Amino acid sequence: MLAGLLDLLYPPRCSVCRLRSGETLCSRCRLEFTPVPPPFCLRCACPLSVGAARMCQQCRTGETLFAAARSLTLFDGRMRTAIHRLKFGGRRELGPILGELLAVFVRQTDSLGHPELVVAVPLHPARLRERGYNHALLLAQPVARMLGVPLMAEGLVRVGATIPQTVLRREQRWANVFNAFRVPAASGDVVRGRSVLLVDDVLTSGATAAECARTLLLGGATAVYVVTLARAMPPGAVGPTAASDGGGGADSRRAIREARPR
Ligand SMILES: [Zn+2]
Ligand SMILES: [Zn+2]
Repeated sequence: MLAGLLDLLYPPRCSVCRLRSGETLCSRCRLEFTPVPPPFCLRCACPLSVGAARMCQQCRTGETLFAAARSLTLFDGRMRTAIHRLKFGGRRELGPILGELLAVFVRQTDSLGHPELVVAVPLHPARLRERGYNHALLLAQPVARMLGVPLMAEGLVRVGATIPQTVLRREQRWANVFNAFRVPAASGDVVRGRSVLLVDDVLTSGATAAECARTLLLGGATAVYVVTLARAMPPGAVGPTAASDGGGGADSRRAIREARPR
C-alpha cells in the first residue's frame, strides 16, 4: 500500500533518461531509437552508400562467416546510452527489456533464418566477475524464451583475455579475437547439427561475431545467424548517404512499437 502510494508520488525513473516515467525504459526513449537505414549489406547489415554493391567489401571477400547479421537500431543517441548503462552503469534491469525488443525484432526478420539454439557472446571470466553478469546473456534469455528454442549459456566460452575491441583499429580487431573462443566439450552434442542464433549488444567490425561463428561452425553448427541491439559504423567505413524510412527499418520500427512498455 505504502509502496503503491510512493510509486504514485515518485514514479520510478527511466534507466536511460532518468525521467520519472514509471517505466524502466520509457516510451520517449524507445521512440528515439533509430533503425538501421537501408541500403545496408545483405550479409552484415553494415550501412552502405546509395548505389553501392549489395554486400560490403568485407563480406564480398568472405571474411564474415555468419549467414547473416541484423541489428535492431543504430548505435547512437538513446540506444548508445542504454547499452552503456547496461554494460558499465550496473543497470542490469535494462537487459530483459532490451532483450524483449530484440526478440520481437528476430521474429519479424526473415533473414535471420529459423534458429534452433540461442547462444550469447561470452565475457571473459575476469570481466564477468567484475561486472557480475554477462549483458549479452541477459539479452539472449528473452530471445530464446520468446522464440521457444533452448538457450545454451555455455555454448561458447572465452579462452584467454582479449583487449576491448573498442580501442583497436579494424585490422587489429580481427587478430585480437582470433582463437579467443571455444565450444566446451559438454556443449558439443547440443551445438552439432543445429542452426545457431548468436546474440550480442553491438556489432562494429563484425570480427567478434565472425570468430564466434567460425568456432561454432567448427563445432558442428549448420549455420550461424547474428542479432545485436545496435550497429556501429566500422572504423573507416563510409556512412549511409540517404537515410530513407522503408525496407529494413520497418522490422525495427515494428519491434520498437509492438513490444509492451515496462
Ligand atoms: Zn527514458
Ligand atoms: Zn557486410
